[in-house]
Amino acid sequence: MNQDTLHRFLFQQKHVRGELVQVAVSLDKMLQNHHYPLPVKQLLAELVVATSLITATLKFDGEIAVQLQGDGPVKFAAVNGDNNQNFRAVVRLQAELSGDSFRQLIGEGYMIVTITPRQGERYQGIIPLTGDTLTSTLEGYFAQSEQLPTRLYIFTDITTKNTAAGLMLQVLPVEAEKAAADFAELVVLADTVTGSELLTLPAEDMLYRLFHQEQVELFPAQHVSFVCGCSRQKCETALFSIGKEALTEHIAEGKLEMTCEYCNQLYQFNAEELQQIKDAL
Ligand SMILES: [Zn+2]
Repeated sequence: MNQDTLHRFLFQQKHVRGELVQVAVSLDKMLQNHHYPLPVKQLLAELVVATSLITATLKFDGEIAVQLQGDGPVKFAAVNGDNNQNFRAVVRLQAELSGDSFRQLIGEGYMIVTITPRQGERYQGIIPLTGDTLTSTLEGYFAQSEQLPTRLYIFTDITTKNTAAGLMLQVLPVEAEKAAADFAELVVLADTVTGSELLTLPAEDMLYRLFHQEQVELFPAQHVSFVCGCSRQKCETALFSIGKEALTEHIAEGKLEMTCEYCNQLYQFNAEELQQIKDAL
């Protein structure tokens, strides 16, 4: 099985393109540092897949943040990714879970997608949560941002091992009538996909299983990785900005501990190190 890969594909006789993503090792790395309840792990796994699929539709280098904000037990959940398919995630809980469905976790709220190209304008899409699933919310996002009919399938397996996978079909912005007919035909086939297939089959086999009557061009895989990007140096930079007064307090306490909320890495600074930062201000 080709784990942790994203594939783009194109139907040669149809005005539809697609994406397939599977994450396992990267997802495991992301989740192993935290003690989230199972439904929260599932939600984050879905959000990682969603972020990968959205990122793969972008035609430029840059960064993306896909955030869920609500009034449910999960106050905030976000995945940050980039065009190299590196991602990290963070979640903030504000109450005990009262159920494990998408809306029982998030409640009323929004999905906010922020795309920051390395060059050019930042784009932000805000989608009110109206559907019952993350996939329906994402389909709403694509309808709003790209005005292209899009169908998504996301599956996770967090109980036996940490894996998640997604499939996306999207209309190409050409010959709208033919594209719509092609899309409708392919969605009927794609609807037969099962979680166990999408989570385990290699991309070639998955596409053959669903679309063997079609000529499908499969593009080379892109590797998907968990990369936090935090460092002791970034913590030091943050300490330079808290001011002398706050530093004096921490020096009096004898040490300062900072924990990365993305990967749970602990960074410790003793009084002497804090004094050096204070002296350099
Ligand atoms: Zn980190």
